Amino acid sequence: MSRWIYGYIVAVFITSLGFGQTLKVRHDHDPWGGCEGELVISDLGIEYKTEKEKHNRNWAWTDIQTVDRYSPHKFTVLTYADQKILLGRDQPFDFTVLEGDDLDDETFAVILQNLPRPVVDRVPEEAETIVYEVPVKHLHTFGGCEGTLRFGKDHITYETDHKKDARSWRRDREVVGVWSVNRYDLEIQVYERDGGDFNRTRNFRFQLKEPLNESYYTQLRREFLPVR
Ligand SMILES: [Zn+2]
Ligand SMILES: [Zn+2]
Repeated sequence: MSRWIYGYIVAVFITSLGFGQTLKVRHDHDPWGGCEGELVISDLGIEYKTEKEKHNRNWAWTDIQTVDRYSPHKFTVLTYADQKILLGRDQPFDFTVLEGDDLDDETFAVILQNLPRPVVDRVPEEAETIVYEVPVKHLHTFGGCEGTLRFGKDHITYETDHKKDARSWRRDREVVGVWSVNRYDLEIQVYERDGGDFNRTRNFRFQLKEPLNESYYTQLRREFLPVR
């Protein structure tokens, strides 16, 4: 076998083993400090390699509850491991990208393809054709934030300047149900950790600035049977 063909086969083999994307990151400790290292995101899972030995981790995809992407520079890996000091609350690993590649859409796609659970993505999907959109106010316990709800073929996104609440939900993975009690109201139920408990879903309630398009809502109702 020629050396080139051999090299090619080795390269394909290595790729299929899932040597993925490597990010230079800081693991942000709670509440202060951090350690620096490399995060490898591949088909096998997520591995964190650092000189602080106690913080080295190698998670298979089934060891991860969710990944919360705040921005392409900041994200959290939530595992199932208990935090002893917080009465068994699940342990989050907060990461900040230091330099080089971000957790951009391409790298995040590796997570979306492999993680068998819902994610939290606060970076709105951009590349998609919008089927329907409506300006809204997202209602909080007190007050709210304003933005636009956009319905694409595969995603529902909420875009707002209030970055904390911006979202991109995959219609078939993160969205549980969509319903409306009147034409100026729309509620979206999603898989998201609500107050630390990931087994509960979270409701995003919106006040609509324009009446909801009736035929589009009929379509939505057919797609998502309300779970309540
Ligand atoms: Zn650390
Ligand atoms: Zn809000």
